[in-house]
Amino acid sequence: MSATIIDGAAYAEKIRAEVTGKVKQRVAAGKSAPGLATVLVGDDPASHVYVRSKHKACQAAGIASFGYELPANASQEQVEALVKQLNDDPRVNGILVQLPMPASIDEERVLSAIKLEKDVDGFHPINIGRLAQKGRTPLFVPCTPSGVIYLLEHTLPSLAGVNAVVLGRSNIVGMPVALLLIRANATVTLAHSHSKDLPGIIRQADVLVTAVGRSNMVRGDWVKPGAVVIDVGINRIEDKTAPKGTRLVGDVVFDEVKEVAGAITPVPGGVGPMTIAMLLRNTLSAAELADKK
Ligand code: NDP
Repeated sequence: MSATIIDGAAYAEKIRAEVTGKVKQRVAAGKSAPGLATVLVGDDPASHVYVRSKHKACQAAGIASFGYELPANASQEQVEALVKQLNDDPRVNGILVQLPMPASIDEERVLSAIKLEKDVDGFHPINIGRLAQKGRTPLFVPCTPSGVIYLLEHTLPSLAGVNAVVLGRSNIVGMPVALLLIRANATVTLAHSHSKDLPGIIRQADVLVTAVGRSNMVRGDWVKPGAVVIDVGINRIEDKTAPKGTRLVGDVVFDEVKEVAGAITPVPGGVGPMTIAMLLRNTLSAAELADKK
């Protein structure tokens, strides 16, 4: 039987509509519109596309957005000075530093410079540290991982006690997804490029989250029948039948896995739209936090 398709685009639309409604209410009550500042260093074309789509989404939700760009040869001091300027700017509730930055920039120092209350991407070491500690609550949770958990919580009645396998352990996706699953009381295996017998590990998973960045990696016979599969991977592959000659796919062989899984996210239209929806939600929360100051 074919899996239920988890419609990330529809969930994201619902979250965006909720945020838009709350922003309207704030403004009608005489409060300021939430503000998001983006910091883009260098000229990576994909980063420019991502930042543009974030500004467009802000505009649609009534969130003010401010774009700052620095050249690829910007110094560490310049990037940190910009972040500090935005920390002090009352129009700005959230600061998003687009990653990756050029190799010459010390990413951790830049992320540490962001005021905790404006860390809407959730990558400040203190926010990530709190995520990893029992009984502590981060002010913000990274957007893609919280989108993954949202989809799981809207697909399964509970994550408590489920066997979850996360494939990939990056700071921005795999690791925070694993931490969130632990907080939701799942039993978590975090697999990576040194893991042995990936098919055997993955076959134990009631929940599988893939965040690797390799097309056609997870095959249908690796997946436990009925498992919920969240495919975070975004990979561009050649497709002569597609208008542009390429198309986007995830990390799993979708046509095989959908015949075995109980539910699965498509690529595109699964996790991708959730990332921006969660960013808007975090920016609204940051504005609400600033109201209380
Ligand atoms: P990274 O390259 O930072 O991390 C990839 C992870 O996969 C690493 O932990 C690596 O292991 C592991 N890995 C690589 N090859 C293998 C292998 N053969 N077997 C097992 N594990 C392997 O990627 P990101 O986490 O940044 O991104 C992952 C994917 O998610 C990408 O396709 C990216 O485009 C997509 N993405 C999607 C987003 C969205 O909004 N939907 C947002 C962010 C990312 P090791 O640590 O051992 O090197």
